Amino acid sequence: MQVIFSQRAFVSVLAETAEKIQTETGGIFLGYRNGESWYIVEAIDPGPKSTFQVAYFEYDTKYVNHLSLKIARLYNKPLELLGLWHRHPGSFDQFSGTDDGTNAQYASLNANGAISALVNIDPEFRLTVFHVTAPLSYRRVPYRVGDDLIPEQFRKLCDTQRLLDYTSAKTSSIWGTGKPQKPKYKYDVMLNEIIKNLDLIEITNNINEETLPDLTDEDIALILEQTEKDLEYFGECYMDFKVSLQEKVLQAQNQDNPRQILQFARVPGDTVCMFKFAERFYYYKSGLFKGIIEDAIESMKKIPKIFGFTRHFVIDKEFVECCLKKIKNN
Ligand SMILES: [Zn+2]
Repeated sequence: MQVIFSQRAFVSVLAETAEKIQTETGGIFLGYRNGESWYIVEAIDPGPKSTFQVAYFEYDTKYVNHLSLKIARLYNKPLELLGLWHRHPGSFDQFSGTDDGTNAQYASLNANGAISALVNIDPEFRLTVFHVTAPLSYRRVPYRVGDDLIPEQFRKLCDTQRLLDYTSAKTSSIWGTGKPQKPKYKYDVMLNEIIKNLDLIEITNNINEETLPDLTDEDIALILEQTEKDLEYFGECYMDFKVSLQEKVLQAQNQDNPRQILQFARVPGDTVCMFKFAERFYYYKSGLFKGIIEDAIESMKKIPKIFGFTRHFVIDKEFVECCLKKIKNN
């Protein structure tokens, strides 16, 4: 495994260390896991209300939450919480008992574990990076720094057109367009938002339309029950979908653009539904689309959820609260 820092993330760690040179400090790593390569794209500081002492510090959780959300929304693919770092006095580059507790907590929150790094100034700046997995186990991993080492997809900032579309969708719903029949949100905007949220909920089994069984009455009842909320919501937004039952799927076709089709089916052998577009099936749950769209719109107003915190991603508010409680050294 290797850890790659963006220039910006690495400088953030250096800057934070330099600023609090007399005391402990630390921070949070945000980025992406991609197999054996983990990319730390952003590193955020622990906040103005953190407690800094020589061998102790505590995060300003409110600030960290706030800033994580602010920063994460700037990226095309929502950032994940990868881990944390903190400074140790002198040359002490192992974890204390309290650190073990914190690291174990972090590691248990993702199947692939977390990163925990230590900074020492002895007297040069020195960074030691560990991969932590649960049950608690440490492995020292090499790290490198450089934007050019990070694949473009992990550096890509949020699409400005997407933000502009949201802005205009939002504005027209505030000011009124004078044409109530006009769709409140663009279908393409909706799809973009959904696609952005998809990769972590894709059904990985080999499901394709040929092998799907025909719908039974029970399947149909389940699908109708599950999709009711979203189909109603599309109606509320004046998105005109024609809903029809096919042999294997329930199909919703956009009447403004008949090529745009959403299909719903039951996951074989399960009591949940899935939906299909772009030739792939994804797990579905009641109100999924409504939730995603509303979150996206809401996030343009208040920012809170675009991190994907609510649904598919590793981090949610509670998670951050719980794992950032305290870091102590003794
Ligand atoms: Zn420590």
